[in-house]
Amino acid sequence: KKVLISIKNLKMYFPIKKGLFGKQVSYVKAVDDVSFEIMKGETLGLVGESGCGKTTTGRTIIKLYEPTSGHIIYDGVDIAKFTPTQMLPYRKKMQMIFQDPYASLNPRMTVADIIGEAIDIHKLMTGKERMERIHYLLNVVGLNSEHANRYPHEFSGGQRQRIGIARALAVQPEFIICDEPISALDVSIQAQVVNMLEDLQRDFGLTYLFIAHDLSMVKHISNRVGVMYLGKLVELAESNELYTKPLHPYTQALLSAIPIPDPEEALSKKRIVLEGEIPSPIDPPPGCRFKGRCRYAKPICAEQDPEFKDVGGGHMVACHLY
Ligand code: SF4
Repeated sequence: KKVLISIKNLKMYFPIKKGLFGKQVSYVKAVDDVSFEIMKGETLGLVGESGCGKTTTGRTIIKLYEPTSGHIIYDGVDIAKFTPTQMLPYRKKMQMIFQDPYASLNPRMTVADIIGEAIDIHKLMTGKERMERIHYLLNVVGLNSEHANRYPHEFSGGQRQRIGIARALAVQPEFIICDEPISALDVSIQAQVVNMLEDLQRDFGLTYLFIAHDLSMVKHISNRVGVMYLGKLVELAESNELYTKPLHPYTQALLSAIPIPDPEEALSKKRIVLEGEIPSPIDPPPGCRFKGRCRYAKPICAEQDPEFKDVGGGHMVACHLY
């Protein structure tokens, strides 16, 4: 498969002032030296607890933030240092679906205006053609074209998320970052939205980065899954491989927390309870960032940052055990 996006040594540090007169500057190392590839047409899941840097990684890839350093190679072109003008054609190729369908739609705009705005920004079409495209997009996401003149508050959460998806599709993107697109929705409609995203991927040849806080949410939709912890990518593998043979102690703990429906199987598997809190991402100490909570930690873990490496068949892990 062809690589669509290659992220190399990506860093996104946010400076914060501290000390008596705010003279000392520290950094929140939200994304700290992260490298991975996204294949054309695949869904790459990205999971981790809140504050692990998964959303910042997504936003940095589409340059809602200016990366501190590193490379974002899109279809062979490094866009990491591109200016807003240079980014314009890429803004059309890369879209985002947001977590909160209540907050991400302007309440004062009609559905037609919300979807049409993207079409206008990129000067794709006008007049009747534009309106037809809006109606078509509403149908594509399972809404009625008569909905075009209504306002976001007139819709349910699931319907609003469909509007957000129609907006993302308006400019015919190649790559969509789905940032926890179902977490805010009722469990009963989560599956519908996931199924729709899968259908759209097939019909339009889309590539997804699917961000979620737990592994069960990305299990069915992802071809491969990456796990982040405190600004670092700690493991990445084919979905099945990751769920059956998790290598990183953190991934093992995350997986053990997923409820198992079969009671017998549940009894045979022990839940690993993580002790302690996620440490602060402000100027983290050297060594493995998981060391304070890891039951396998060795002396080297406090001294050396484990390298993120392939341990066979594309299964990547950053841990001194391997
Ligand atoms: Fe645990 Fe050490 Fe592996 Fe970190 S590098 S996860 S502390 S064993």
